[in-house]
Amino acid sequence: MINIVIFGAPGAGKGTQAQLLAEKYDFLHISTGDLLRQEVAMETPMGLRAKAIMNRGDLVGDDIVVSLLSRALEHRSTLPNPDASLDPWDVERNGMPHRPEGCIIDGFPRTVSQAQTLEFLFGRLKRKIDCVVAIEVPRDELVRRIHERAAISGRADDTEDVIRHRIDLYDQQTTPVLDYYRVSGLLVSVDGSGEIAQTNNRICETLDMVMKIKSKQ
Ligand code: AMP
Repeated sequence: MINIVIFGAPGAGKGTQAQLLAEKYDFLHISTGDLLRQEVAMETPMGLRAKAIMNRGDLVGDDIVVSLLSRALEHRSTLPNPDASLDPWDVERNGMPHRPEGCIIDGFPRTVSQAQTLEFLFGRLKRKIDCVVAIEVPRDELVRRIHERAAISGRADDTEDVIRHRIDLYDQQTTPVLDYYRVSGLLVSVDGSGEIAQTNNRICETLDMVMKIKSKQ
């Protein structure tokens, strides 16, 4: 299994690319933003606590996010598992157990402390991160996309002011995480300033290379 982490500021297309990659390579897509939005929609205690924070564009506390992520990583399968033979990452497809080819994590880590937590969680599962993809988009282009997105998105945190705040937070808190992965040699930066398909091709070229190297190990 190959494990990917994907980064990108609001407007960089991180969620779209993660979804495209999950479909193309049969990866399990775990998005902490989606997990949180589900909790908010279901009005669970965690969702109720997270809602106002998300609507402001701030980061939700690690207690909530880490608990949702570890649940997704460790208890992904909803299949009955009487003989404990299923991998926790097996998922159901057409009523049958299905083991994805890998996993793509989108939206986590957002701080260095979360990066350390992710290593710990992966370590417990005897897995490791194979590649960290950072989608780079110049701020001018992000701002242009924000205007578009604010006009069509139904998300409460997609108003122009809140998105600008989320970009600032990304610069302040998430950029140090990229340095963390750069030092460990896992980081690949991809130009995300063009069309979705162009960015996707660039990421796929990288992942194909990573998978080729991994298959020879
Ligand atoms: P996203 O869908 O990744 O843009 O995330 C939407 C919102 O969910 C963010 O603006 C945060 O409020 C919250 N969120 C998602 N992932 C995290 C995380 N790793 N840590 C803290 N908050 C998060």
